Amino acid sequence: MVLKKVAGARVGEDAEDLRSWLASLDGAPEVHETVVLACAQHGDERPTWAYVEGTAAEGIARRRCLACATAVHLLDSASRWTHPPMRSCIGCGTSIVEVAAGLSIPDGEHVEWVVVGVRCVECGRLAGLTDMVVDSLPLAEVLSAL
Ligand SMILES: [Zn+2]
Ligand SMILES: [Zn+2]
Repeated sequence: MVLKKVAGARVGEDAEDLRSWLASLDGAPEVHETVVLACAQHGDERPTWAYVEGTAAEGIARRRCLACATAVHLLDSASRWTHPPMRSCIGCGTSIVEVAAGLSIPDGEHVEWVVVGVRCVECGRLAGLTDMVVDSLPLAEVLSAL
């Protein structure tokens, strides 16, 4: 893991660094599992580069595959969608990111909290996108809706 700080910003070299960061957030519920979110439209070679929209204020997010433009709303975001602007990196302005989710699963089976983070593919800056409190949803159900 190469997780370093550049000019005060967390920077990661790859999606694994993003996962590590999500698993060690200060002042957040414990994260038991992390998953890199990738587009399911491509067989075994799932691309991870995406555009994202979302807002932490309302706990919603959507990612759109760079390769095929398939958009996926995270969990129940679609029903609460408020059309937040596309996110771009505050460090370099790039809009393309890798996306990962951290899951708090206190009993090992039911998810209580989801945090979504992104890594800028240009400069590596890590950032939180949104987080959602979920009502003890089964892990498999959450994984299928990210
Ligand atoms: Zn795709
Ligand atoms: Zn950047």
